[in-house]
Amino acid sequence: MNAPLLIPANGPLRDARGRSKRKLRVSLTDRCNLQCLYCMPEHPKWLPREQILRRDELVRLVRLFVTELGVREIRLTGGEPLLRRDAVEITAELNALRPLGLDRIAMTSNALRLAPVARALKDAGLDDINISIDSITPDRFRAMTRGDVTPVLAGIDAARHAGLAVKLNSVVIRGYNEDEVLPLVRWAYGEQLSLRFIEFMPLDGRGLWTQDKVITEAQVLEQVQQEFAVQRLPRTSEPAEYFLLNGRYRLGIIPTISRPFCSTCDRVRLSATGELYSCLFSEQFRDLKTPLRSGADDAELAHAIRGHVWHKEAGYAERKGYAERPITMHHLGG
Ligand code: SAM
Ligand code: SF4
Repeated sequence: MNAPLLIPANGPLRDARGRSKRKLRVSLTDRCNLQCLYCMPEHPKWLPREQILRRDELVRLVRLFVTELGVREIRLTGGEPLLRRDAVEITAELNALRPLGLDRIAMTSNALRLAPVARALKDAGLDDINISIDSITPDRFRAMTRGDVTPVLAGIDAARHAGLAVKLNSVVIRGYNEDEVLPLVRWAYGEQLSLRFIEFMPLDGRGLWTQDKVITEAQVLEQVQQEFAVQRLPRTSEPAEYFLLNGRYRLGIIPTISRPFCSTCDRVRLSATGELYSCLFSEQFRDLKTPLRSGADDAELAHAIRGHVWHKEAGYAERKGYAERPITMHHLGG
């Protein structure tokens, strides 16, 4: 499809395919204290610190997205966002944008460092947190992530006690943890914790992905139906499909690979170094750090953002297969 030449100069951020952008994912750092099989390269090379956006730069860009471009929801991610020592301060400064139109501040974290700061994050204005956990069995968790599950469980507990809405995310890979589906569901069901399975995407840093390693929505359901009565719920505006188990528990599955939701995608992404990506699978980005650091004003930055997003690709729904990108998942932010 050819994009019309005229890129809108105002109004909510949107692309030429008619998708508006209300959600911005912001990576706080490329660094991580885990090494998940499905994400991190075998030998990660961290970006030089001076390339990472400072707090004032990051908040300025987010403010622009909110005031000029109609973004309403922010998700802080990474790498591991809680490795940023100023994660609470960043949250508090974003919280001050609510009167300007920001509705929701969320985070995606591995929760290793969450327990001591959960209350402070809530007080600073965080609304909800998605926590990645691919197994609750210590040995299996270590095999998937090279880390310890104990502080993750403590982080989940602390977040709930602090009053944060918690959702758990699990990536399932054939040959690695597909036998963890039922144990995870039983545990989350018993604890009444919201759980979503994410189909393994071809974005890992070590080239592990093949189509046959993807455990699809249908395959997750096959397992779950062995123990639970499963009823599909009506589609929402979220990427996840939801299912009611035994009439009382809502399980989510994000079917990015088997049923891509690209036609309704309403998000854009800002990397830790200020590169704007309009899609996880994009091969192109727009550098915002250079103009930001060279004194560009808000109108110039907004123009650059509108232009880049206008040309957003159709997404995974039309490309399929391994994504060769100039960036890995832990740098861009999942
Ligand atoms: N470190 C944080 C965490 O793990 O939650 C935030 C960053 S991580 C890149 C964000 C999300 O991306 C996590 O839920 C993770 O499970 C997911 N993810 C990473 N690589 C993936 C892949 N290849 N396929 C599907 N999901 C992936
Ligand atoms: Fe780190 Fe999150 Fe990637 Fe795991 S998924 S390696 S926790 S950034």
